[in-house]
Amino acid sequence: PDADMQCEVLVLGSGPGGYTAAFRAADLGKKVVMVERYSNIGGVCLNVGCIPSKALLHMSVVLNETKEMGAHGITFAEPQIDIDKIREFKDGVINKLTGGLSGLAKARKVEVVTGYGKFTSGNTVSVEADDGSIKTIAFEKAIIAAGSRVIKLPFIPHDDPRVMDSTGALALEEIPERLLVIGGGIIGLEMAQVYDSLGSKITVVELGDTIIPGADKDISKPLLKKIKKKYENIYLKSKVTNVEAKEEGLLVTFEGKNCPETDMFDRVLVAVGRAANGKLIDAEKAGVAVNDWGFIEVNERQETNVDNIYAIGDIVGQPMLAHKAVHEGKVAAEVINGMPSAFTPMSIPSVAYTDPEVAWAGKTEEELKAEGIEYEKGAFPWAASGRSLSLGRDEGLTKAMFCAKTHRLLGCGMVGPNAGELIAEAMLAIEMGADMQDIGLTIHPHPTLSETLCFAAEMAEGTITDLM
Ligand code: FAD
Repeated sequence: PDADMQCEVLVLGSGPGGYTAAFRAADLGKKVVMVERYSNIGGVCLNVGCIPSKALLHMSVVLNETKEMGAHGITFAEPQIDIDKIREFKDGVINKLTGGLSGLAKARKVEVVTGYGKFTSGNTVSVEADDGSIKTIAFEKAIIAAGSRVIKLPFIPHDDPRVMDSTGALALEEIPERLLVIGGGIIGLEMAQVYDSLGSKITVVELGDTIIPGADKDISKPLLKKIKKKYENIYLKSKVTNVEAKEEGLLVTFEGKNCPETDMFDRVLVAVGRAANGKLIDAEKAGVAVNDWGFIEVNERQETNVDNIYAIGDIVGQPMLAHKAVHEGKVAAEVINGMPSAFTPMSIPSVAYTDPEVAWAGKTEEELKAEGIEYEKGAFPWAASGRSLSLGRDEGLTKAMFCAKTHRLLGCGMVGPNAGELIAEAMLAIEMGADMQDIGLTIHPHPTLSETLCFAAEMAEGTITDLM
């Protein structure tokens, strides 16, 4: 009636969750409006997350390899680094993908409205554009896909340009001489690796007793061993308690085991986690419950506490990963279309795209132990993989944990080059209820890194006992 626009499905946010939901709903015949505050659609993942980080990490792996090849008889000259060109390459990748998405939206007649959206009732949102103009959109159903943002720490001068979050680090303004990375999780370590290969001296400080909390320690250990050698310092069980902006640098105060009391850095990257955006969209005006952490609770049909409103992606909880958002987005659109869809994965795989890559799917060994689940394990060291050795790499490991009774795959952990690609096979095996024989009897091409999962299964089964 007095709204500027009407739609059947309104999607708030255009990240991997939002655009997947919008496209699926449109494909199912709905009239869809997608609201995004930025002019580029694609959300965190495409613009300041998964994609730009992977573009930079590829460059870092190439740089690492050219150095490591020295030991195998090929020596390159010192690389010439042109950070403007690197930035151009990364931005080019982003632009191709976001441009492609806009085309896909157009082709489906998904209307993209640019501006900041807030609920004004259970059937309307108002969208404020950068120029201050406001549009009201009436909807029958809404899917909240407003994602998450970086967490800021109160004792850090975040407005100092030398203090970066992941977005600032990806902007690649300069290569600092000494960089402190606060947080030894996936995002912190990926960015640490990028800056290390560009020539920065890296210090990582992590509260926990190891890097990549969530992964089994034997899987993260080869990475830890490698970066311990390369980086200036890695302080575990330690924390930063203050950062003071001085003219000559950022004076950082530490508290912990093996760290100094203070040290001076040229730049600091804060990568201590992300907060959900639930409190920033006036969800209460639509009656949608948001918890203290900004998360919106949903059931397996992505339904919130309000009948016509759904939520997906980072805003509904951990793990904050693009592939989770995508699948949830599809479920929300299908449920709206009256289909019997539900988000009930056996597991959601995790990958650190570091060098070596660290990947895991299903239950970790620590989880199996904590839950008292009996399992049989096969662990295949890549030092016995012809393919891995041919790459000049011997630090990898593939381990697979099977149910002691059914012999079905319960969990898998991998570390080594390309582990992030290889984990997909384990994930499929878990979803399909494959057992150790299914995996061990499946002929894997030789010589590949994919064989390591087959060998781990055979080791669990006892059909391989000796390594070649
Ligand atoms: P988002 O991608 O956060 O998108 C939400 C969108 O909503 C944003 O575009 C935002 O501008 C918009 N928005 C929010 N509020 C409003 C509003 N009120 N009005 C209008 N628009 C609004 N995940 C992986 O799976 N693999 C990776 O390799 C990976 N790497 C990452 C690297 C980095 C540096 C970071 C920061 C994250 C990474 N992630 C990765 C996480 C991944 O980016 C997120 O899980 C994913 O983007 C979540 O998707 P989403 O659709 O929930 O929301």
